[in-house]
Amino acid sequence: MKVECPICGYTSATELESNTSVPSLIGGSVPRKFKYIHCEKCKEDTCIDSEYDEKFDRAYWMHSARSAHSLIDRINKSGTSNVCIERVLEIPFGTLDRWRLGQVTPEAIALLRIIEKCPGVLEEMDK
Ligand SMILES: [Zn+2]
Repeated sequence: MKVECPICGYTSATELESNTSVPSLIGGSVPRKFKYIHCEKCKEDTCIDSEYDEKFDRAYWMHSARSAHSLIDRINKSGTSNVCIERVLEIPFGTLDRWRLGQVTPEAIALLRIIEKCPGVLEEMDK
């Protein structure tokens, strides 16, 4: 499809779609599709479809929420119980169960990742 280049105004730029996959910080990857304009005249590529970014953000977040379940399982298997985490962090009893069920925030995922990678952090906080 021929469109106008938003950079130089060339009227025979090409609208294209790209499929890629973005690695997740917590493992695996999330597919991402976006539209862009490629200009043969100025050689610029311009991303044009923010709706695709919203879809990606949602997909990325769903991936993270599902991962909370396996993240908590790994922490539990390494010997740290949910009750211990909740007590040391002074968060309400049952919080990790809710996180495990997907009612989790990006901040909670970040916290769980810290606990998994640095298990001694709970002991330090408990002193
Ligand atoms: Zn151009």
